[in-house]
Amino acid sequence: MNGKILETENLTVNFDGFKALNQLNFSMDLGELRVVIGPNGAGKTTFLDVITGKVKPTQGRVLFKGKSIHSLAEHQIARLGIGRKFQTPRIYLNLTPRENLEITCNRNKNVFSSLFRRPSKNEEIKVKGLLATIGLINQADMAAGLLSHGEKQRLEIGMLLAQSPDLLLVDEPVAGLTDEETENVGNLLLEIAESYSILVIEHDMEFVRQIARKVTVLHEGSVLCEGSIEEVQQDPRVIEVYLGQQE
Ligand code: ADP
Ligand code: MG
Repeated sequence: MNGKILETENLTVNFDGFKALNQLNFSMDLGELRVVIGPNGAGKTTFLDVITGKVKPTQGRVLFKGKSIHSLAEHQIARLGIGRKFQTPRIYLNLTPRENLEITCNRNKNVFSSLFRRPSKNEEIKVKGLLATIGLINQADMAAGLLSHGEKQRLEIGMLLAQSPDLLLVDEPVAGLTDEETENVGNLLLEIAESYSILVIEHDMEFVRQIARKVTVLHEGSVLCEGSIEEVQQDPRVIEVYLGQQE
């Protein structure tokens, strides 16, 4: 292994002649928190879809910890240790945050068998630790449907952590959140980043400023530039593609 958690080489995705990704070369170190930004339609979600095996590349390779994964099925890639958080939380709204986390800790069993059996001591400790990490101790036993939008986002991040992935992919975690909730999610990601490799796709520049270390700017399916948030914000090419988007 070369210290890289994720690399792509000349990655191209062709949707009926339209290149959503175009010769994309990307690499991210083990333990890194990377933020990928780019205007609408830049290919950000498609990039995650290819990493997780949902979309197959027309050309190019995806390497996870140095091994090529783009020909594997989605569930095989997930099992290798790549977890994804979708834009809209996928949680059980009728269950409590604690139950949601218990189920995810036992994802090989079905929902009912994990609900109708007492969790083991280890599971209880793990779930308690996750509830503390995501800041939902006080909300642990209410229906998840009653949580605020930001709390739901944090719960789903907790469910991702319950699976102990080696790489977390997070797509626009703060879309539609209030400023306060955005800051909470940002702090949570920064805390998690101390022990995980995380790739965050984001649109909200304030949020990117809060969490970003190294930023990659995507445009028309390729890397436009990379650097610190200050560097990319001053790059005339970045200013142009973002300005070009405003009405
Ligand atoms: P982003 O997440 O950066 O906004 P996407 O990856 O969703 O961008 O989309 C990149 C481009 O690819 C867009 O122009 C979108 O319309 C197109 N696209 C995405 N998915 C498909 C698909 N399944 N079929 C055809 N075109 C698609
Ligand atoms: Mg998207």
